[in-house]
Amino acid sequence: MTDCLFCKIAIGEIPATVVRSDDRLMAFRDLNPQAPTHVLVIPREHYADAAEVAAADPALIGAMITAARMIAAEEVGEDSGYRLVFNTGSDAGQTIFHAHLHLLAGARLAAGMV
Ligand code: 5GP
Ligand code: ZN
Repeated sequence: MTDCLFCKIAIGEIPATVVRSDDRLMAFRDLNPQAPTHVLVIPREHYADAAEVAAADPALIGAMITAARMIAAEEVGEDSGYRLVFNTGSDAGQTIFHAHLHLLAGARLAAGMV
């Protein structure tokens, strides 16, 4: 998609602090972090949201979750725990309509809506 921010990050046209990357995925730090570790895991290919990824390519959703787990293990250790969030649609606060998995870790996260 030509006018998608995360597609542009995926091809390196817009810079990001990349923490993990392979042929299908990229993970980079959120510009406005909500936790000590706040990383977004995206598919390189454009999908509007997580449900679209799951419908088109279930293994890719699995790969996104595995990537998040590996980053959490590197940054906060295996046992500390972490939160994974897929905001889907405007009522959930999705602002960028290229699927992305939020990884939040590194602090005792508040219980609640997110
Ligand atoms: P959403 O609200 O759609 O679930 O999450 C979008 C996330 O993207 C937000 O947490 C926001 O801080 C982050 N974000 C927005 N623009 C940029 C950007 O240009 N670079 C990076 N690294 N993150 C961004
Ligand atoms: Zn995109």
